Amino acid sequence: MRLRRRMVALAVGALAFIVPVLQASPAQAFTGTAQGKVFEPNPVVTLRDESLTDQKDADYAALQPAYKIVTLVKLDGSGLLRGDYADVCGTKSCASSSDGTYLFGRDHTWFEQVTSYYAVTQAQLYIQSLGFTNVNNEPQLVRADQFGGDNSFYDPKKDTITVGKGGVDDGEDLEVIWHEYGHAIQNDQVPGFGGTHGNSIGEGFGDYWAFTMSEPVSGGFDPACIADWDSVSYTVGDAVHCLRRVDLDLTVDDQDGRIHHDGQIWSRALYDIHNALGRETADRIILQAQFAFGVDPSFAEAAQATVDAARSIAGQGAVVKVRKAFQDRGIL
Ligand SMILES: [Zn+2]
Repeated sequence: MRLRRRMVALAVGALAFIVPVLQASPAQAFTGTAQGKVFEPNPVVTLRDESLTDQKDADYAALQPAYKIVTLVKLDGSGLLRGDYADVCGTKSCASSSDGTYLFGRDHTWFEQVTSYYAVTQAQLYIQSLGFTNVNNEPQLVRADQFGGDNSFYDPKKDTITVGKGGVDDGEDLEVIWHEYGHAIQNDQVPGFGGTHGNSIGEGFGDYWAFTMSEPVSGGFDPACIADWDSVSYTVGDAVHCLRRVDLDLTVDDQDGRIHHDGQIWSRALYDIHNALGRETADRIILQAQFAFGVDPSFAEAAQATVDAARSIAGQGAVVKVRKAFQDRGIL
């Protein structure tokens, strides 16, 4: 549940492919779109309430106003949560519908599959709205594990996101799904991305991607706090629950070798670029830059690629702001 990137799948991951029961094709009563019930981004943010707790996956009354009915798009019409940008199942069964509605509460085993389909599809739609048709433009495999490990991870060998459970089910917090999708984005742009600094850059970008996806639906409620709902089980008693933040004042001198910690140096730089240039311009630059990354770039090499992308996309004024964001972290 700690958003760890694992290079190897958990043993339980294999179960996902052994027991995909309940997949009889429903009547094709709908094509392309369906209704889904989701959190967006999560109940803590939506309800602006840090006192909410998991309560063993109960669908309790105080959470009801956090649900949102959304349109699931790009479905293939099979009745399963399969479409142009996401292909979602659980370990025990794949969510299905014969009437175009996927309206389950959080205590239902299929709820996290619906949120996963929605989160991944929204992310890819946003990427394409920025003008990119070559950034993980494929049906991303997601396995929302009811019986799996207690953390979420992206497995580059299988190009699969596993959404774990334990405490709050990870799939109930879209920021967790968006973080993992960040790994899928980078591995698509630079196959095999990772390594000494690459892993920290990967975690930092994942956190940043969660932030930039969540910001428009956060209503201004502490958008720099990542996974506010998933982390209520880990930060009991704290006034604010964040797995990590993207606005910490860390520099390269604060590196300690823990990739999620050190990633917050990188995510803070991206956060500053976002605030200096605006969401869409920043994200065009950040995504474009990643095509120029090596498999394991240093912070400085990745930063310079981002400065270069700023120059080509937004001109010299943007270069100055992007360079400053990295200078403030001691990266350039
Ligand atoms: Zn990660």
